[in-house]
Amino acid sequence: MNIRHHLNDDLLLDYAAGRLSEGWSLAVACHLAMCPQCREQLALAEATAGVMLEELAPVEGPDDSWEQLKARLVTAPQDNATPIRRPSSATLPEPLRGYLGGDLDTIKWRNLGNAKQVLIKTGDPTTQARLLCIAAGKPVPEHSHGGRELTVVLKGSFHDEVDRFGPGDIEDADGSLTHQPVADEHEDCICLAITDAPLKFSSRLVRLVQPILGI
Ligand SMILES: [Zn+2]
Repeated sequence: MNIRHHLNDDLLLDYAAGRLSEGWSLAVACHLAMCPQCREQLALAEATAGVMLEELAPVEGPDDSWEQLKARLVTAPQDNATPIRRPSSATLPEPLRGYLGGDLDTIKWRNLGNAKQVLIKTGDPTTQARLLCIAAGKPVPEHSHGGRELTVVLKGSFHDEVDRFGPGDIEDADGSLTHQPVADEHEDCICLAITDAPLKFSSRLVRLVQPILGI
């Protein structure tokens, strides 16, 4: 898997510190399940957080505490992260299969024209999680977000005004981005999308049917 779009530092640190709500955490966990590079970064972030907490204890340390911190980071055990197993037959990463009750073959899609979706129930009222399948070569309607959208590609690929995103890639879009993701030709693109505000579609027609389709 050739991942080009990784977790940014803010996401990684917020995840490590437990500051992300469940919806965003699900997207981060799915990327981590597919990305050894970010798992290493996370282990480092967690080790750093742990050491810094210890450093906060009775402050009578010498002035060279930064040197000590670095020394301890180098020796900090990094193998305590939860092992992530992924049977080769599964398409969806483990955190997601837990939410959906299985892999792709168990999903009951709802048709949205060029795409189909299934809404994912979480305990997080501040975000909406959904699994999207965009038909090969087809666009989803142009939209902006009015909020943040995290998209993790699980299968296939899409491109938009920002770049091309393939398996494992994560796109972090804020409210200012208006984009029209288009699935690449060779196969349907399946991705996990987390939003914290309803999508704002450019097309009036799509806006009209939006409540009916639950998008
Ligand atoms: Zn990564």
